Amino acid sequence: MDCTCKNEIYPFSRIKNSDTMVVYDAFYFLRGDKYRKNLEALKAELFTQGIQLDRIQQSVLWRHVGRKECDVRKHAHMLLEEMKPVKYILFAGAEVTQVFFNKKVSDLYGLKVESDIIGKDKLVVVAPSITTINSAPIGEFRDAIRFFANERRNHDAR
Ligand SMILES: [Zn+2]
Repeated sequence: MDCTCKNEIYPFSRIKNSDTMVVYDAFYFLRGDKYRKNLEALKAELFTQGIQLDRIQQSVLWRHVGRKECDVRKHAHMLLEEMKPVKYILFAGAEVTQVFFNKKVSDLYGLKVESDIIGKDKLVVVAPSITTINSAPIGEFRDAIRFFANERRNHDAR
């Protein structure tokens, strides 16, 4: 389903045949250096756990910058379509977590969560929002990513 909002929708790179995805709230990298540092920190944490960010899917709830007039459900629907082919999903955004699980990210991070909408056959883990990675204690992020990677390995071994 296309978003019928009038905002320009940015495409994002899809990595074919990747079974793993990280979802963010928005394309923060359009906002410059501060976000790029967050992304580098995330990349390093994932790499420590054997996951290469460049080789997995990344997607966002909001696929454009301006968004006040948007219907979030349409964007959530677009994201759901993106999530269909993958098995392992790391939520790293506060808003996307709120939209899909109706809870604050701080109540869920480091936990495996289930969603009827996303599909219970998928492994879904919530991490703190990537916007906080360089301000929150890194341990919170590290623990969530380690948990995700471990669960993913166990899931694979089944
Ligand atoms: Zn929109």
